[in-house]
Amino acid sequence: MNLVLVVNAGSSSLKYQLLNMDDESVIAKGNCDRIGIDGKLSYKVPSRGYAVDEDCVFPTHTEAFEKLVEVLTTGEGKVIDSMSEISAVGHRIVQGAEIFDKACLVTEEIIEQIDGLSELAPVHNHPHALALRACTKVLPKGTPQVVVFDTAFHQTMPPKAYLFGLPYEDYEKLHVRKYGFHGTSHRFVSKTLAEAMGRDVKDLKIVSCHLGNGSSITAVDGGKSVDTSMGFTPLDGIIMGTRCGAVDPSAVTYVMEKHGFTPHEMSQYMNKKSGFLGLSGVSSDNRDIQEAVLKGDEKAAITSDILQYQIKKYIGAYAAAMNGLDAVLFTGGIGENSWEVREAVCENMEYFGIKIDSALNHAARGKLVKLSTPDSKVEVWVVPTNEELLIARDTLEVIGK
Ligand code: AMP
Repeated sequence: MNLVLVVNAGSSSLKYQLLNMDDESVIAKGNCDRIGIDGKLSYKVPSRGYAVDEDCVFPTHTEAFEKLVEVLTTGEGKVIDSMSEISAVGHRIVQGAEIFDKACLVTEEIIEQIDGLSELAPVHNHPHALALRACTKVLPKGTPQVVVFDTAFHQTMPPKAYLFGLPYEDYEKLHVRKYGFHGTSHRFVSKTLAEAMGRDVKDLKIVSCHLGNGSSITAVDGGKSVDTSMGFTPLDGIIMGTRCGAVDPSAVTYVMEKHGFTPHEMSQYMNKKSGFLGLSGVSSDNRDIQEAVLKGDEKAAITSDILQYQIKKYIGAYAAAMNGLDAVLFTGGIGENSWEVREAVCENMEYFGIKIDSALNHAARGKLVKLSTPDSKVEVWVVPTNEELLIARDTLEVIGK
């Protein structure tokens, strides 16, 4: 068996999936949570319906990896005899900046470079580096590790898309520019869509709408990202669960001053207290928002309207940027499941050649399916994302298997 362990590490969590790449099935998956606090393991073997939730002691990522090795190789949930059966480990890395435009093999120098980018992604990159070091310590010597970057897919954006109107030296010296995120997802779904359409991705102009708790929209022209809604950080673009999305920069400094916030407090305000949650006062979860809309909650209704309106504007803008549009795809928790959001986004878009079948849209949930009518000039699809699978595929490619 060709086994790949995919790891997505945060500051206090370590999500993992063990994939059998012979048939791309998931052998085991779960999360080592509350690292540095106390510790909680969730572990599932889907084929056997085996699931366990256990309190643990995870002072650092190292103990979490040790526990992961233990559950994979011993006890009732055992799926392998030893970690040496694993071909490689693939790590999701949020920020690769301009250094990394593709996946690569991990060396100590690469870990240092990833850690060195922590200033650009303080919440993510340092924990990634900690997890890479912990994994190196715990796994058998010589197990190849590969890093796959969220930002890499967007490194094809031209300067006119990624530069801000700030003094150029802020780009040169401080590396302030649009990087874009969710790149692995946009790359996966745009390729999957091209296959489903029976077309070469190189011949397609796609607007890829990844709508989840975090959301981003990408213009994919000929298989390459040419623009995307997230920016220097994942805060930019459309409104999200708790993130505000794009805001006039002067409103930011004004609110900071009025509330007496430090930069960190303002960042927390925009990242954790805004978006659906801050606007509606109901919830950060789209399901709660849609439910509140049905009950006549006005703030929930305006929140929902803002989301749909912003997505529509991006589709229009990116059709203009690409000088054409062949397909729009929806992915992520909202994109795959919320017929309400998709319907409202695609309403009154005939000018762009977008027409969806209402019955197909109502029925579409979490599966690859075409929503557009036969006479729609632009195809509209739901394409479930699977970032772990693409990370595993990239990992095998990097190690040459
Ligand atoms: P993600 O971050 O991709 O897991 O997506 C989370 C978002 O998807 C949340 O806002 C959920 O409310 C939304 N979501 C998940 N399932 C559904 C559903 N069945 N209907 C509407 N929204 C959903």
